Amino acid sequence: MEKLMRAPSRYVQDKDVILKMKDHTTMLGDSFYIIASKTAMKVTRPKIEKSFEETDVKLVFETFNGESSKGEINRIRDLVKENGSNVIVGVGGGKTIDTAKAVAYFEKLPIVIIPTVTATDAPCTALSVIYTDEGEFSEYLFYPTNPDVVMVDTAVVANAPARFLVDGMGDALGTYFEARACLRSNSPSLAFGGITQAGFALTKLCYETLLEYGYEALLAVEKKVVTPAVEKIVEAATYLSGVGAENGGLAAAHSIYNGFTVLEECEYTSHGRLVAFGTLVQLVLEGSPTEEIEEVIDFCLSVGLPITLEEVGTKEIDGKKLMKASKVACAEGESIHHILGGVTPEQLFDAIIATDNLGKHYKDLI
Ligand SMILES: [Zn+2]
Repeated sequence: MEKLMRAPSRYVQDKDVILKMKDHTTMLGDSFYIIASKTAMKVTRPKIEKSFEETDVKLVFETFNGESSKGEINRIRDLVKENGSNVIVGVGGGKTIDTAKAVAYFEKLPIVIIPTVTATDAPCTALSVIYTDEGEFSEYLFYPTNPDVVMVDTAVVANAPARFLVDGMGDALGTYFEARACLRSNSPSLAFGGITQAGFALTKLCYETLLEYGYEALLAVEKKVVTPAVEKIVEAATYLSGVGAENGGLAAAHSIYNGFTVLEECEYTSHGRLVAFGTLVQLVLEGSPTEEIEEVIDFCLSVGLPITLEEVGTKEIDGKKLMKASKVACAEGESIHHILGGVTPEQLFDAIIATDNLGKHYKDLI
């Protein structure tokens, strides 16, 4: 398999960096169509307008309707055509960003991404998750290129509720271990290529950054301030985790997330929290050394990520339901099969029970 590395063309991150949007984006075009969620619009529009003050650049703002669906993508495509815009900008969380990426792809226009939370890997990757208009998962769209520009304003991100930062750290926690599993079994990355040293190095740095700065960054964001630790964690959760996962590949942690989404008990548990618990289960599945598992548990405890089933929403363990989730996680085509030797639903079920008991044990020690 040929080795492949891909990433956004430009990544910019700083406090109030949106005020410099003009400097980083006008090489792409002069008529911007800006799609933003309601909250994102309120927070970023004044800064975006200020950045383009005294220029001839045309800015059109449109509020995102909340679902990353074909209907919404087509609605916005029509508006973009009407306006004759030549650059698409997506501002907000995962769904807004995924919609903007799809619009840009279908209209063959460059794309600028401005995430306002760090909860997902959407900003840097070349794919979108598409839902039905009713919000059910529909499909993934894969693109030939990554976003042209990703701009992260750390003042905006630090002002979002701290739980988004924790979610982002949960999603980022799996990146190194999932890439390592893919490397061991020579499985393809999310970009359908072999794993480069560069890609794998990003995932390692992602994990090390979480361990070193995660707790400190969380305490700063709880007070809505930006410190060097916040800058490091925002980069880890946005760039290192996104580009790392795309070029390093997924394994059990994300399949476990997919499996748990069928349980109604986990309906309100975020992607990042489930991936964090899934990461621990993956380590148990792989028979990782105790020191490694303890390191991950300590990190989870420090930032409030789940280490037991109860913390992901399943108060009482119902064996039947857990088996159902295990089967979904082990469905054909799931990335859990990137674990060397493959994984059966029974093996996963046992690993989940063992992880939960391990988590309870560590909770009792506190
Ligand atoms: Zn993820």
